[in-house]
Amino acid sequence: MKRTWLVGDIEIVPVIEAEGPTVGTFMLPDADPAAVLERHGWAVGSFVAPDGRLLTRIQALCLEADGAKIIVDTCVGNHKTRANPFWDSLELPFLEDLAAAGFPRRDVDVVICTHLHVDHVGWNTMLVDGEWVPTFPNAEYLFVGEEFAHWAAEGPEPGQDVQADSVQPVVDAGLARMVPPDHVVGPSVRLTPTPGHTPGHASVVIASAGREAVITGDLMHHAVQVATPHWGSGFDVDSDMALATRRAFIDRYADTDTTVIGTHFGGPGGGRIITVGDEHRLVPAG
Ligand SMILES: [Zn+2]
Repeated sequence: MKRTWLVGDIEIVPVIEAEGPTVGTFMLPDADPAAVLERHGWAVGSFVAPDGRLLTRIQALCLEADGAKIIVDTCVGNHKTRANPFWDSLELPFLEDLAAAGFPRRDVDVVICTHLHVDHVGWNTMLVDGEWVPTFPNAEYLFVGEEFAHWAAEGPEPGQDVQADSVQPVVDAGLARMVPPDHVVGPSVRLTPTPGHTPGHASVVIASAGREAVITGDLMHHAVQVATPHWGSGFDVDSDMALATRRAFIDRYADTDTTVIGTHFGGPGGGRIITVGDEHRLVPAG
């Protein structure tokens, strides 16, 4: 199911690289399908498949705001050597899909990476004559400075060098801008710091004509975490901070009109956080 979001005068368009039901323990060790069905019956039929697998997605969220074409996160990318076999050496028509959605790569003005994990930076670059070059040659790429410094210091992981093939070439081309995690992109778009999953992680707030939406990034990976924020990701760099950030985020947006759009949420893709009894849930927005 693919839908766009209207936030005041701004349309947010998902361009999906991959999607499907997945055994949730890959992302969330607690999300065994049986446990999901037992604890999260509320989400079956929307964010959860009938067999308890989680509906997930890898996508770029694209919008035009304040006269700029903006892409939030750039998926896994093509031709990249990756440790995860499902992400290794992909050849997917992402750029064609992006252009069809109204975002041909040369027209993109701003690329925002919520953080610098492998599935959020891939299309930052593309392979041309054996070299990694920026996919969006006319864009300014916004990286949170603390996030960039963290991964630059970490060095390559076994089986992949994400920084070298998907981040550093953008810096070398002079297209990267290091920003604080509360950077104001324009009158309608700003970052908000949501650290823990990674040190410089930021979510993206979009506001227009009295309406607001927030793109989560990976502060949560799936809607079930709205009800069980203690179901952390095995990929959280600082799990205590990630949990505190998730709880603060849920409290901040619960029972408001803000649309929460999940970067990895499948099914309806997002919705509004509501309080039901002593817990929170995510209900698809109309
Ligand atoms: Zn991710």
